Amino acid sequence: MALLITDECINCDVCEPACPNDAISEGDDIYVIDPDLCTECIGHFDEPQCVVICPVDCIPKDPDHVENESDLLAKYKRITGK
Ligand code: SF4
Ligand code: SF4
Repeated sequence: MALLITDECINCDVCEPACPNDAISEGDDIYVIDPDLCTECIGHFDEPQCVVICPVDCIPKDPDHVENESDLLAKYKRITGK
């Protein structure tokens, strides 16, 4: 699954540069994740880097974007061309 930032986000900006896929950006009110670019960090890291770094723990899985590990790996390959 892609991940999702909830309205508990405090706009601290630490997750944006931590994302290896440039999937995180500043939205109108809170930071947002582009589900087409989020691979849960599969292909890059063992753990989702935004979840590891977020100080308020506001990045759950996005139930509207259900994907298994092979889906996420395919997305990683599409994004990176590897
Ligand atoms: Fe980016 Fe990884 Fe967080 Fe997805 S899980 S938004 S790829 S840092
Ligand atoms: Fe929001 Fe967490 Fe990202 Fe900070 S690290 S901008 S609180 S989602």
